[in-house]
Amino acid sequence: MTTLTAPTARSSASAFLQSINPATGEVVGQVPVTPAANIASVVAWARAASRAWRNLGFAGRRAAILPAGAKLVARCEELGLLLTREMGKPLAEGISEVRNCGLSMEGRIADIVAALEPDTLEDKDIRSTVYHDPFGVCAAITPWNFPMSMCHSLVIPALMAGNTVVLKPSEETPLIAQAYVDVLNETLPKDALQIVHGADEQGRALVDSDVDLIAFTGSRATGVKIMAAASNNLKRVILELGGKDPLIVLADADVAKAAEFAVHNSFRNAGQVCVSTERIYVEEAVADLFEQEVAKRAAALKVGPGVDEGVKVGPMINRRQKEWVLKQIESAVKQGARVLAGGAPASATNDNFVKPTVLAGLNQKMDIMHEETFGPVACIVRVKNADEAVALANDTPYGLGASVFGTDVQQAAEVGRRLDAGMIGINKGCYGAAGSPWVGAKQSGYGWHSGKEGHRQFTQPRVVSVPKQ
Ligand code: ADP
Repeated sequence: MTTLTAPTARSSASAFLQSINPATGEVVGQVPVTPAANIASVVAWARAASRAWRNLGFAGRRAAILPAGAKLVARCEELGLLLTREMGKPLAEGISEVRNCGLSMEGRIADIVAALEPDTLEDKDIRSTVYHDPFGVCAAITPWNFPMSMCHSLVIPALMAGNTVVLKPSEETPLIAQAYVDVLNETLPKDALQIVHGADEQGRALVDSDVDLIAFTGSRATGVKIMAAASNNLKRVILELGGKDPLIVLADADVAKAAEFAVHNSFRNAGQVCVSTERIYVEEAVADLFEQEVAKRAAALKVGPGVDEGVKVGPMINRRQKEWVLKQIESAVKQGARVLAGGAPASATNDNFVKPTVLAGLNQKMDIMHEETFGPVACIVRVKNADEAVALANDTPYGLGASVFGTDVQQAAEVGRRLDAGMIGINKGCYGAAGSPWVGAKQSGYGWHSGKEGHRQFTQPRVVSVPKQ
């Protein structure tokens, strides 16, 4: 078991936060909890460090951040194993999460610098320069499902923009977040990046502290609380929240490919992904075949601890999440769903695993079609046509990702354009080309990150105008 000392807590922490392996129940390690009362001091240190950090400019900040990229790549096996032990995902995915954070460092920094260069505007009388200045201190609050890359996607844009950062990672995955911060801090100046550990009490204290911007990835419910708390001083917020992503399978789709995607995107990371496929609307004409193909593939997935050979689906992060997923499955079955694969076990088991489950015969009235599941469940609804699919897909307060499968790509893209989501993939997942924003519509987000406009949200635009002679 490893005990890590949060180097920036600078406190005599009396309590420790244990990190539990969700596959085995073993304690992986522990960190000192940052007393909520100390968080104002941590933020004050971040404030004190912010002028010097800002004055380093892009080149100086790049030089301080970039070395972490190669270090993460070099240590991806060791840190990937820690990530898997702490969070549960298959080891290959844990390693590639760490490696991708490292590999993306250089390009991400270049994109941020390009996005934040000043713009010049002119009319016949005035020449204006629009600067993209740091706010000052940014709080980054992150979840456990991609416990390194979620930190990476908020911390690097905030730092590169010239903000100092106080990170509060999920209480479920403190060790890998601490390791990420430690790697960056080998070359960052003191207090440019600090980490505080704890759960909602520490999150609330950070939101209430003297930070200028709160960048958050997590549940809609917590996003609502953060936005309310931030409203007192009109703090800036960037909220990336949950989803209930639809997949529409049109009658002309390549059914095998659509089923392959449905299985991948419903069961990846045991469904604990904000852009998991949570609802599938399939046209009647191909529904039988599609259901068979999905069920066959789901049943073949190996479930188990992420460190075991060939495992594709790890555990739920904790018992509470497992019980929530099983409750949703049971309630859908009570309401008339048919189980084509997996399902809830007849009696409770003393672990955190849920079998990849395929439910058919669903309809929009069922609870499972509305509440975010965040588990390995594929929910199939038959529809008469694309119009009905679009209407049902949009029947949700969420609007993060969506996918449409159809062989006539133009027709599928037209269906996609009618969806109220922020990111829509045609014959693929919702991720956009390099430089695309990561953006939710409706209640899946408020503000967004990545891409030119996303990087700019970590900054305050400031316009300096001079008269033309
Ligand atoms: P999840 O259920 O996926 O863990 P949450 O939204 O509950 O998502 O948590 C995401 C992050 O928000 C975690 O770091 C958590 O500790 C933190 N958090 C929870 N409640 C609050 C709150 N009221 N204010 C600020 N942060 C919070």
